[in-house]
Amino acid sequence: MFDPPGGRPWLLYALLGCSLALNVVMVLDRDAPAEDEAAPVATAEAPAAGEPGAEAPLTDAVVPAAQAASAQPAVEPIAGDWSLARGEIDRSLSGMFVEQAGEDGEGLSQVFSRLFVWDLDLRRDLRKGDRIETSWRKNKDGIIEIAAARLHSQKHGRAIGAYRWKAPGDTFASYWFDDGTEVPHQLQNPPLNEYEQITSLLKDRPTHKGMDFKAPVGTKVVMPFAGVVTRENWNHGSNGNCIEVQFSNGDMAKFLHLSENKVKVGDRLNPGEVIGLVGNTGHSYGPHLHYQVEVGGKVVDPVDYHGTVRRKVEGVALQNLQTEIARHNALLEQAG
Ligand SMILES: [Zn+2]
Repeated sequence: MFDPPGGRPWLLYALLGCSLALNVVMVLDRDAPAEDEAAPVATAEAPAAGEPGAEAPLTDAVVPAAQAASAQPAVEPIAGDWSLARGEIDRSLSGMFVEQAGEDGEGLSQVFSRLFVWDLDLRRDLRKGDRIETSWRKNKDGIIEIAAARLHSQKHGRAIGAYRWKAPGDTFASYWFDDGTEVPHQLQNPPLNEYEQITSLLKDRPTHKGMDFKAPVGTKVVMPFAGVVTRENWNHGSNGNCIEVQFSNGDMAKFLHLSENKVKVGDRLNPGEVIGLVGNTGHSYGPHLHYQVEVGGKVVDPVDYHGTVRRKVEGVALQNLQTEIARHNALLEQAG
């Protein structure tokens, strides 16, 4: 699948791509309890990835012919501190990772599971003997980061890999499959047009009432649907700057931990209007938006309420993605 046609500028892609994998930052979702957020259950917290970094653009690279001719899809040594975790499932995913990564195994298992949460239920889908390969490290903040993760699934009869890559025009890197499909889904009518990562889904832990999006302070939070502002800044100590709206169909939504509110109670808003900015106020341990939807007073999953879309890249972008994936795979397959 990754056989290059002659003349593809492998070397430059490899060099540019080299920086990509170095910028993976997994961030634990560390919401503290708030009015709308019960205490997180540590074991159920799903870390996720995303950190803007000095990532070189991979697209539209122009490479001198001589360089292209001599270049090979060689494995760039991923700098220094990346480790490989490889093993076969015996009893459990975490058991395998503990064997591979010791005290970091549990955390690595959670990060790995989160990557595939959109497509697989690893608790159900894994079979004894499934093979797993992951390039990972712990960053200077002690947070586990994954560059690439691959599962050879007997149930699905194939290898399923998730690879970090920044698509053309995107601000943040995401994870992608080798056919160009993005691994995480995106909400339709999202409350943020850009974010680094979904760091908590409603189904991750039943005590947490919303969906969390990691995004830099100041990122615009927008109205998903038409509606009216009903409350702001209640329970400020926990929720920080916050806004509650009622959509025109009567359903409610809450936006917590904002750095700034841009609307007032009574304001009538159209879809896409800016209501505030992402922050780190209240009981929040990192800039993120907590987004919560309630129907008839009951919390519902924004994923179900909004529906999701999934992106796919084609053409040159897909070629670049696949070049990067070939490099990741070569690393995963290195003799250990
Ligand atoms: Zn939250």
